Amino acid sequence: MPPAEDNKRLLIVGASRGLGYAMAEEFLRLGWRVVGTVRAGPRTKLHDLADSSDGRIEIETVDINAPDQVSALRAALAGRTFDMLFINAGVTNNPQETIAEVTTEEFARVMTTNSLSPMRAVEALQDLVPPTGLIGVMSSGQGSVANNTVGMREVYRASKAALNMFMRSFAARHADDPRAFVLMAPGWVKTDMGGPEARLTIEESVPSLVRTLLAAQGQPGLRYLDYLGRPVPW
Ligand code: NAP
Repeated sequence: MPPAEDNKRLLIVGASRGLGYAMAEEFLRLGWRVVGTVRAGPRTKLHDLADSSDGRIEIETVDINAPDQVSALRAALAGRTFDMLFINAGVTNNPQETIAEVTTEEFARVMTTNSLSPMRAVEALQDLVPPTGLIGVMSSGQGSVANNTVGMREVYRASKAALNMFMRSFAARHADDPRAFVLMAPGWVKTDMGGPEARLTIEESVPSLVRTLLAAQGQPGLRYLDYLGRPVPW
């Protein structure tokens, strides 16, 4: 029997600020217990939330680009289970920069952080999620190959398209897995990454995004969904 909704556990990677922080806050509000990760460094908003959470939010530290830190996180969580694992961490680059202009270093930074590293985190942490659980990864509408009719954000788009492809391969390898797999497109949201011109506020995206993840629980297979639960064309 899966646990009651108010006693479920989320492990969210990349929860220091922006969408990841807001997701941690929303799951806490819904009664979940949350382990959220930050990168080593100064205190974050998540630390303040944890301090006022009566122990329901715990903080772990990981840089997803450091495989030794991902292994250390897995070791620190040994023996625990999570009803949901969500990999949120991601970066962007200059949206105007075309593939003709980007440096090899910048290309590698964005591709590694947005596709290789989230998948390494999924691979390392997935066995903490029981058969009734859900594994989610933050993709983007920009990762849709079918919807790319306007260009821009070329490297970022490719990094999220690659992430989508890697999750499809993961799902294909786990074809008999009863767990739900979700690639999430949160909409264009006002965060440090999304910028002040973005279409949605965090309050307009995250509660719906969380409802979409909750509704996806118990549904095996991989889906690419937007924050309102609508399928995104691959
Ligand atoms: P944000 O405000 O820039 O936050 C990015 C988060 O990722 C921060 O918590 C950051 O941690 C973490 N992070 C970055 N690199 C990391 C690494 N190597 N290891 C661990 N954590 C790392 O961006 P956001 O808008 O909330 O975006 C969150 C996710 O949503 C990203 O995957 C992004 O691509 C995706 N997304 C955003 C939008 C949007 O409009 N905002 C749209 C579509 C998809 P630090 O605080 O340590 O830097």
